[in-house]
Amino acid sequence: MFRTIFGFFQSIILVITLFTTSGQFLPSEFGCYLRRLDRMGIYNNSTRDSVPQTEFYDLILDHFSQERDDGRTPKAIMIVYDGARADALVNTVDSSESAIFQLQREGGHIYHMHTGGPNLRNQQGVDTAQGFATMLTGRWAFGDDGHGVFSNSHTKPADGPPLIFQPLLEGGYVDSAAFIVSWNGHFTRTNADGVGTANYSNDVALFQQLGLTDADDPAQGAMRWSMNPNDAATTASTIEMLEDPDGPGFLVISLEYTDSAGHRYTFGNHRPEYVQAFHNAERAGLDMIEAIRARPTYEQEDWLIMITSDHGGFSHYHGRQFQVTRQVFLAVNRNLPGWGACDAPSVITWPNVLTVGGIVVLAAINVFAIFRFGRILFAA
Ligand SMILES: [Zn+2]
Repeated sequence: MFRTIFGFFQSIILVITLFTTSGQFLPSEFGCYLRRLDRMGIYNNSTRDSVPQTEFYDLILDHFSQERDDGRTPKAIMIVYDGARADALVNTVDSSESAIFQLQREGGHIYHMHTGGPNLRNQQGVDTAQGFATMLTGRWAFGDDGHGVFSNSHTKPADGPPLIFQPLLEGGYVDSAAFIVSWNGHFTRTNADGVGTANYSNDVALFQQLGLTDADDPAQGAMRWSMNPNDAATTASTIEMLEDPDGPGFLVISLEYTDSAGHRYTFGNHRPEYVQAFHNAERAGLDMIEAIRARPTYEQEDWLIMITSDHGGFSHYHGRQFQVTRQVFLAVNRNLPGWGACDAPSVITWPNVLTVGGIVVLAAINVFAIFRFGRILFAA
């Protein structure tokens, strides 16, 4: 009787243990992903001190609002390599055509960051829309103050938190700003009736009401919503704006190279097409950085240059919570105090707590079982 109950109980524990670890270890490439990232020797912090994607909002706002003794004008650019995994950086570490390592060679830092919510519980899907909305609002999707974009097909509610463009423009920190993309889900997608169904359809309308975006052409005005046919055109549009001395003081760019290659050929460094796509993104990013450096007014400006990713991926997908989809990177042209330190926000992963707890209970039961089995033997 005791052994029947005991065997049943042990099976339950075993199932719980396997279940809680499966989220991290199911496909073979997931094994020890965080440890592999830490061993790359590229990042300035450890994955344990991974910084939440929500931090972008304050990072950018602080850059524009800080006091400057040298009189330089603050400017910022955020270049997003859509779907670039945190381990993709090994592909260009020795390349002369890398925007990321150009920043690092000039004293910049590279940080582990994560999307998807504070931990591995499935709080926020790991897709383009959720990631961008988190970067641009400083909030996760969920909660009373969340941005509410839970999938690529969602539209951010009209009463949701403001996109960072708004305080920068209304606060007079920049005269103009631009969001430059080639995926229609960001702000141009409509349904059959022509009603906006994009992530920021409400925001475009709001900016038009505020007089910040042209009422007839969303690509014009103080806030420019620039939709392009492909990455080459996105890059050309960005460089054109950077070459204009009176161009936008804050730019957000999305390059689709890695996401497109990942969905088509699979995400990961094992795929030459994915690796080539990462090189293409890096080349485009470097062209943008060079355009910034070539500005006649560059010496009088203080550019915050950020290169990041909205999410990772595996197989042909992203969206679910795994370390390979959650972990992203930030390459930035400066040292961010606190981001590399051990007191930076760390990730508490409940599956790990449950896993360790499960293993401890299992071990205790096994020790008890051996002890009891020995007593039966000796009694006989
Ligand atoms: Zn994406």
